[in-house]
Amino acid sequence: MSENKDFLRTIVEEDLKSNKYEKIVTRFPPEPNGFPHIGHAKSIFINFGIARDYNGYCNLRMDDTNPTTEDTKYVEALKDAVEWLGYDWIGEVKYTSDYFPKIYNYAVELIKMGKAYVDSINEEEIKEYRGTVTEAGKRSKYANRTIKENLDLFEKMKNGEFKDGEHVLRAKIDMSAANMKMRDPLLYRIRHAHHFRTNDDWCIYPMYDFAHCLSDYIEGVSHSICTLEFENNRDIYDWVLDELNLTPPRPYQHEFARLGINYTVMSKRKLLELVNENYVNGWDDPRMPTIAGLKRRGYTKESILNFCEQIGIAKANSMVDVSQLEFCIRDDLNQKAPRVMCVLDPIKVSIENYEGSEEIEASYYPYDVPKEGSRKIPFSNEVYIEREDFSENPVKGYNRLTPNQAVRLRHAYIITCKEIIKDDEGNIVEIKAIYNPDSKSGQDKSGIKVKSAIQWVDAKKAKKIEVRLYDRLYKNEAPEGLEDLNPNSLSIIKDALIEPAVITEKPDERFQFERQGYFYADPINYTDENPVFNKIVGLKDSWAKKSKNTEEKQKNKTTPKQEKKEIVHGEAEPLTEKQKELFNRYTNELNLNNEVSNILARDEKLSSFYEEALTKLNSPTSLANIIANDVAKELKEKEISELKFTAKEIAQLVKMIDEEIISSKIAKQVFEQMNKTGENPSKIVEDKGLVQISDPSIILPIIDEVIEKNPDNVKKYKDGNQKLFGFFVGQVLKATGGKANPKVVNELVTKKLN
Ligand code: ATP
Ligand code: MG
Repeated sequence: MSENKDFLRTIVEEDLKSNKYEKIVTRFPPEPNGFPHIGHAKSIFINFGIARDYNGYCNLRMDDTNPTTEDTKYVEALKDAVEWLGYDWIGEVKYTSDYFPKIYNYAVELIKMGKAYVDSINEEEIKEYRGTVTEAGKRSKYANRTIKENLDLFEKMKNGEFKDGEHVLRAKIDMSAANMKMRDPLLYRIRHAHHFRTNDDWCIYPMYDFAHCLSDYIEGVSHSICTLEFENNRDIYDWVLDELNLTPPRPYQHEFARLGINYTVMSKRKLLELVNENYVNGWDDPRMPTIAGLKRRGYTKESILNFCEQIGIAKANSMVDVSQLEFCIRDDLNQKAPRVMCVLDPIKVSIENYEGSEEIEASYYPYDVPKEGSRKIPFSNEVYIEREDFSENPVKGYNRLTPNQAVRLRHAYIITCKEIIKDDEGNIVEIKAIYNPDSKSGQDKSGIKVKSAIQWVDAKKAKKIEVRLYDRLYKNEAPEGLEDLNPNSLSIIKDALIEPAVITEKPDERFQFERQGYFYADPINYTDENPVFNKIVGLKDSWAKKSKNTEEKQKNKTTPKQEKKEIVHGEAEPLTEKQKELFNRYTNELNLNNEVSNILARDEKLSSFYEEALTKLNSPTSLANIIANDVAKELKEKEISELKFTAKEIAQLVKMIDEEIISSKIAKQVFEQMNKTGENPSKIVEDKGLVQISDPSIILPIIDEVIEKNPDNVKKYKDGNQKLFGFFVGQVLKATGGKANPKVVNELVTKKLN
């Protein structure tokens, strides 16, 4: 650890060396007004981690100075979170409210020293008198009260002789201080409210700035670690402890950057709103960034600690990509989770030439996972496969079952489709198939070549389960409010089918459902009658999938939407003469692939928009990609005249991509802004400084930094974990806010790592 120290550990080591403290004491001081979130996990990791590393200890302290918002259920959630992450606090949980009598006495002392006074102007006036950043404030006339008057009033405040807001206690510091927080900060206020621990003992409550430093001191804390937004409060922290002439040693405050993750919010206030207004199902809803939510979803503590380790400790705020958290859980479960088969959207396959039944012994783990174990999978002449693993009219490159293409049933046999049974509306209800008896997995003598193996379950022995699929809670990277919530963040499948071994064994572990993702038996709702599984994370980074270039997407053409169309209509409607003409022009003259040509040709609005863009820029493929995807989404509900952008502006945007002025990732961001505000793309790029960085002399130092910060991953990569290549590239791109040229980054990272 010591060769790769963060700045906090550097400070701690220096303080130990200079004998400033005998023992390292830290604290994790949450306010019990909500469930802790992944940001708190970072703080827990830092505070408890440092204490552990230097043989000190860390207190868990409830910062309960605000009687109106706090509750014991939050205390319990905070204790749970710390314990679950594997940390211990020393002795009892501490509470700031336990120190109320001491803190009160310190206030009296300050008054006696002439350093605090009771002020009686109202809230409005307090604000007004404070001045501005450029103008000094002025002191209220009550600041001239005598010590005796102040002592008397403060005692009466405590005895409940005044109403809320009638008086406050303030430190007498400096009304013209450059740091606005030092302009006679409030130390105590009157609040006639019931406190969940001290009940009605107190009707005055200390402010954070007064209570926090003193609680730290009372507990013998050495390093008071907090987030950056408290930087300006540090002066008060020091002022209080210094003025009171306390016996040394005293604690010092150090700030680090708080964690922010995209596509979610990280404030207890906002999370509370989601819970109270039922946008989610409680604090532990698996979509929530709370520790309880992540735990219920199936995240392991190892993955969260690993994540905290990876993001490191910095002094500048930054936004972490949620895919990095997803990377950590995937990375962890890849080594741990047994692989099983589950079919989410079943379609029946009858195997006509198979008789009887058998049980196939199959390993739970692939060869490259150093774990052992296997189960028996029942097999018979009726199985279910995933609806999207069969295509009647496959696109080019479709690798699974079709009328003319065999497929392997994973761990079992190769089957070939013989007949498709449809209902009156043309929906496929069953597939009749035959199997090859010589093709059994592991002893295949059939000589048949297949392009893929698909999951399946035995029709008679499979168990029905409920599967809950989660998507990001917000649809925007930087959500602002409720309007940004993703309406599709939860989808429930009631009739998924799973192989029986998963259900008979105690499902207190995470599973990989082959080709679907990682899943976890819901700890709350799972019952024998209705087994419920939560999807923890998909097998691949869904973000990366989205940003993959469109052509590749077209090649696979496996999006559920497309499949659905085929199922519902049987066959796609034939093209009209005019559409055919356009289709031919796009495929033959402009060299677009069939899929994009099809999308454009079938939609008159899209094709006319495309044709107009082409008159501005001769870049058929790039234009087609953005128009068939992003523009198409907008034109679903709008007319061309309602769009905020023009074909000419789309051409300008594409030109910047073609000329490598911006990356296609940034282009998405620019497009979103164009779509929102109607601004010109060049102007957006200029205003926001989004120009792509291709200069190796700028990119190389960033790569060096990433490599330096992640020695463990470098080692793993060099030891053969090739998958980490993407991690490094991602980190570099992130460090540049997505502005680095991915091609250049790829090349340079390759060079650096090999
Ligand atoms: P919120 O705004 O979510 O309510 P908070 O800062 O008010 O957060 P507290 O309960 O007062 O939450 O915080 C307890 C400790 O956790 C503090 O030391 C705080 O600095 C830290 N903390 C809170 N949020 C984050 C975060 N996003 N990243 C890192 N540390 C955090
Ligand atoms: Mg707070």
